This record gives sequence, structure tokens and C-alpha cells, in this order.
Amino acid sequence: MSKILNFSALLLLSTATLLTMYKETPAKPRPTTKDPKPSAVHTRDAAPDIAYTVSMSKPWTHLLEVEMRLKWPTAQKAVDVKMPVWTPGSYLIREYARHVQDFAARSGAAQLEWAKINKNTWRIDAKGSKEILLSYRVYSNELTVRTNELNDEHAFWNNGATLMFPAGQLAAASTVTVQPYGNWKIATGLPKVPGQTNTFRAQNFDVLYDSPFEVSNFTEITFNVHGKPHRVVISGEGNYDLRQIAKDIPKIVEEGYKVFGELPYDDYTFIVNLRGGGGLEHLNSTALQWNRWGFKPAGRYNGFLGLVAHEYFHLWNVKRIRPDALGPFDYENENYTKLLWVAEGMTSYYEGVLLRRAGLLSDSAFLQSKASAIEQLQARPGRFETSLEEASMDAWIKYYRQDENSINNQISYYDKGDIVSMMLDVTIRSASNGARSTDDVLRYLYNEFYKKGRNYTPTDFQKACELMAGKSLDDFFSKYVRGEAEIDYDGIVRGIGLTVNVTEPNRSRAYLGADLSEQDGRLTIRSVAAGTPAYDQGLNTGDQIVAIDGFRATQTFLQSYLGDKKPNDKVKLTIFRFDKLRDVTFTLGTDLRKDYGFSPVENPTPDQRRLYKDYLGGDL
Ligand SMILES: [Zn+2]
Repeated sequence: MSKILNFSALLLLSTATLLTMYKETPAKPRPTTKDPKPSAVHTRDAAPDIAYTVSMSKPWTHLLEVEMRLKWPTAQKAVDVKMPVWTPGSYLIREYARHVQDFAARSGAAQLEWAKINKNTWRIDAKGSKEILLSYRVYSNELTVRTNELNDEHAFWNNGATLMFPAGQLAAASTVTVQPYGNWKIATGLPKVPGQTNTFRAQNFDVLYDSPFEVSNFTEITFNVHGKPHRVVISGEGNYDLRQIAKDIPKIVEEGYKVFGELPYDDYTFIVNLRGGGGLEHLNSTALQWNRWGFKPAGRYNGFLGLVAHEYFHLWNVKRIRPDALGPFDYENENYTKLLWVAEGMTSYYEGVLLRRAGLLSDSAFLQSKASAIEQLQARPGRFETSLEEASMDAWIKYYRQDENSINNQISYYDKGDIVSMMLDVTIRSASNGARSTDDVLRYLYNEFYKKGRNYTPTDFQKACELMAGKSLDDFFSKYVRGEAEIDYDGIVRGIGLTVNVTEPNRSRAYLGADLSEQDGRLTIRSVAAGTPAYDQGLNTGDQIVAIDGFRATQTFLQSYLGDKKPNDKVKLTIFRFDKLRDVTFTLGTDLRKDYGFSPVENPTPDQRRLYKDYLGGDL
């Protein structure tokens, strides 16, 4: 999944579907779902033939039409089919069943009776049939990388939000036939079934649910890297330069190849929708969303490339190098892991690393982006409340449900994970005198875990890092991964000849300390960080600041008015709280946040110079 980076780079996710991958992965016992009346009513011995048809005859209604044909060798009494409640890569229960309507079941010409038995399960009385046909429609009017949209311009859907699975049959293969609207074209990572029109095959449900579809009159470019075909499909108009994209994305692919030494897919599809934002990783594809006018100037275009690099890198880190709980997936419950900081944070780190190595980001821009990430983390009181492992576990209830208190009680496993990944990389480089890096850690996990059909645990990850560092990293992991200690940035980056400059802000400037937003002429408090004057003097999220010392408050006015004030000056704030007007005498304070930057140490040693060059390519 992705999120937005601070230096204008966004981020992230990616995908890939591999024919070989699931063959190599031994079947791990799947978490079973608890049906009200389990085995008695199901026949789980043989997998049915499963064939879906997805149609879109009236795109303006936003209804995708689904038919699901199930065929068994033996007669069936009752059949349960289920909708996933979430989709991998986006760790929130989304209840896709809520968009299902017009469900019907039949066998030949006969209608079959059915009943909902819980929020996402339909039980059909199959009356001894060997073949049944289910039909339903899915309301699809929300464009995000993990939901569906159908309208008169295009169809984009995730199969996990669209296609039901027969209970207990997640290992079964299936086919999907798409009936496009008009002359729309089809893009997906799923392989075509030879000889059949618009029909695709998935060898199991993890692959099926991993493969989104874009169906529209998209623009497309193709290129080969190391003999593998890549396709970029862009839906919508915008200020992108197709030729530039066709030059730059292959460079990102090449840098990913260099880390792992192979491209573990038959082909790869980048699906780009020019609305919304973010990305979602898949085994051999990715869904990306970007503002249609967000390809210029260069800084914004770099943000797009960062998103591409992030999602693409995920094809290794998370889709193949899999944390303990992330695959095979349980589609009906939360899948908890302490490793999202590696899956997402380290991918965020490599997004910048790949761009830098590809020559798409300068050394100084790379370091600047890390410095501003550090600055933001250090301004977050939540860094003392939540560790990286806790933030990973609580993604399901916190990361996707940010509120005004998040700054005070949480960190992002993306942002802190990015920084800690950099610190880990530098630590391993220093400890091994430049012989090893996090590239080696990822390559090791890829070869020793993915290729041997295993997922990795937090202990496995730490051990892999220690193997490369050639020493214990328990202190590092207990402080920065399992704990909430302040990070010794300077002590770590000195290994590669850098020092961290911490600059105090102008202490003579008056400071309010609330995060404000202005909309329709209303200036409202969005959040209040602990330890600021606003926090200590009781300003609340949601308070509307109407006036200061009797003058109407706007963002611009506030800046210039407070520019003439000093810390400890008093002002009268007139605020609406819960629709009631009140005056507050407020004592202005001092901004204690600090600025961070990297610079070379004085008189670097030859080792520091060498390690710096290994890391960043340039000279100290
Ligand atoms: Zn991601």
C-alpha cells in the first residue's frame, strides 16, 4: 500500500503474480472460518470448477454484474459462498459484502433457495445439483486502489471486493471472463486462457484476489527489461509525458533487478488511474492513482516515480518476502503481524534508494528527504507511545483510522519504518565495513524464505540483519523496533561520514502550537500536539478561531499578527466551541521543534569516505 511522502514524493506499492510462486509454497494450514453449521453441510473433498463472468452493460449505474458458475463431480446439498472483508495490502476491515445486491441462485432453469447466514456468507440450498449458477451485482462507485469504480469512463475493480469464494476452497483455481462495455480494452496481471476471448485464469484465490482489472479506453506503453514484458496502462487525461515515463520506469525496474538478480514474473502491468491517490502492490501488477495534472513540475513527477518504485519494490518485499501472517491470507478476519514496518517502512526506504540508484533523485535530494522525515518524527509526541512493532499490529485499528490524537499516541510504520530502515542499512554497512547492507538482508530473505516456501518472523528478520552485520543488533532492535527510545541518528550516520545538524528554531518568535486548517473562511484547529502552548492551555481540536484581539482570524492574518508578538505575550482568542462563542486569554509560547539536516563530518577517514561512496555513489 502507499502513503504520501513529505518531500513531495509519494509513495508506494506494488504487485506481481507468479505462476511459480504458489507451486513453490507448500500448503500451509489455512485459518478456517467458523460457519454456524460447519462440515455437515459442506462438501469440501473436491474443489469445484469455478468460472466467473464480469459484465458492465450499464456503466452509468455503477453496477458490475457478476455470474459465478460452480460445478462439482458429486451432488451438493448446501453450498456456502463468501465475500472477503478486506483485501491484502490495505489493512482495514472494509466489509465488501455491503455493496452486493440482486443475489440469485439457480440450477438449470430452477431457482434455488438461499439465505444470508452472517455478514458475508450466502448459503444456497443446492438440492443435489452438481452445477449451480449464482448471480449478483456489486455497486462500484468508489475509486481507491482497494475498492471498485464503474462509470461511463472506465471500470476498475479488485477481485476481492467483487468475486465471492466457495467456503473452504481458497486453494481452488478459477477463470474470469470479462465482457467489456463497448470497445473498452482490458488490463490485468492474470494470464489469459489460450483460445478463449477475454478469459483469464487464477491458480488460487490468493492470486485471483491479487489481480485488479482496469477496463477502459486506456493509453498504453510496453517495454522489456531482461526479456520480461512490462505494460503501463494509463486511464484518463493528464499532463504526463508518455515518452519520459517509458524511459524512467525501466530504470526503476532495472534497479530492483540488481538487488535480487532476477525478475520473478512472466510479465508485469502498471495500472495508472489519473484520479485519487496512492497505490496497491500485487504479485505481477500494481494499481496506482495519481492526480491528472501531477506530472509537472519535476518535483511532482518525482513523486509519481516514487509511487511507482514503492509499489514495484513490493513485488519482492511483502508479496514474496512474506511476513508471518501475510499469506496465504484469511479473507474474513484481520491478519496480524508485527512486521508491517519492514513490509511498508523498508519499502518506503527503498523507494528513495531505487530512484537514487537509477539517477532519478540526487544524493542531496535523497538525504534531504530523510532529514525532513526525521524532523517530522521528532515533532511527534506519539514516538514515545508506540513502537514500530506495536504500530504494525495495530494498523487494523489505528493506521487506517487516524484521528486528531494520532500525533500524540502513534507513529506511522511507514515514516518511522523508513527512517529505521535507513539507520539499519547504515549500521550494517558500518559493522561489516562496507561488505554488507540491507540489500543482502532482503536477498537472503528472498532466497532462504520465499524460495523455500517460508514466511519470516520478527526473529528471522533480526537474525538476517545480524548475519549481515556480523554482530548482535539486539540493542538496535530493542530500542528502535520493539521500543520507543530516541534514535541516535548522529552516532549511526557517522559510520558513513555524515553528521546530523540539529538547528533550534528562532526562539524569539511567538508560537501558538495548534495545527490549523482554513476552509470557506473558517479557521479551525485540526490537531493539537502534546507539549505545545495550545495543548497546555486547553485549545481543542474542532475549535473555530474567530478573532484574535478582536480582529477576524485568517491563516494569513495570524501569521503576520503573531510575527510581531513575542513568547509570553498575551492575546485574546475568540473561539466557537460546540457552537458557543467564548473568549480565551492565551499566553503565546515558543516553538521547540528543531530542524534536521545531514552534512559531512570534519576530516572524514578513508573508511568513512569509502562507505559513503558505497552508499550514495558520490564523494563526501
Ligand atoms: Zn507500500
